Amino acid sequence: MPRQFFVGGNFKMNGSKASIKDIITNLNNAKLDPNVEVVISPPTLYLSYARELLRPGLEVAAQNVFDKPNGAFTGEISVDQLKDTGITWVILGHSERRVLLQEDDAFVASKTKTALAGGLGVILCCGESLEQREAGETIKVVMSQLGAVAAKVNDWSKIVIAYEPIWAIGTGKVATTEQAQEVHAAIRDWLKNHVSSTAADNTRILYGGSVTEKNSGELAKQPDIDGFLVGGASLKPAFVDIINAQT
Ligand code: PGA
Repeated sequence: MPRQFFVGGNFKMNGSKASIKDIITNLNNAKLDPNVEVVISPPTLYLSYARELLRPGLEVAAQNVFDKPNGAFTGEISVDQLKDTGITWVILGHSERRVLLQEDDAFVASKTKTALAGGLGVILCCGESLEQREAGETIKVVMSQLGAVAAKVNDWSKIVIAYEPIWAIGTGKVATTEQAQEVHAAIRDWLKNHVSSTAADNTRILYGGSVTEKNSGELAKQPDIDGFLVGGASLKPAFVDIINAQT
């Protein structure tokens, strides 16, 4: 079975009740490619609100979750709480959290394990800095980020990998189709050698970093690009064109 195209919208710490309602109304009324799995990820405070407004069939992702069950963890949210409010996905390992909040590979892996055990799908982000790319370390960095997860998780069927080179995030500097395809193919190869050939065949690998309605069509044609994780452009009406990149 071919891999179902997947497009996630990562709103990051953006939006208000009014603007999120506008985005969702636009999505609810749009003609979306029925073969694409669509997930939007507003800030925590608006998760329930988004879930209530969004039409069935489109899903909502949290931007983080804690790796412990309900308890004395001020400021955190649990997998059970997400599920209780109809949230079915979580973004983990985003570079903004790795860099700004010092989340290391082991913590990302632990959160991934907890989220999967509780039945959430995980959009697992990985990617290198400009310095690492220029030092020729891209593949090594990405594999070690994924390797930390493989050390704790056997079943990758509910993981979607998002390859997001840090130098392309929010910069307007998109990776070339060749640069993205090269890393995606390497990730698929790594899955085959370190997880299973089933995981290599079935795992969606998304590209993220300055995706727009202008570059999404070419990127979507690459054999190992199975969708996108979109930041800035997911806040705009053109997000619909990115979802429909294959049509
Ligand atoms: P961007 O962000 O599309 O604004 O570059 C992508 C992301 O961080 O997921």
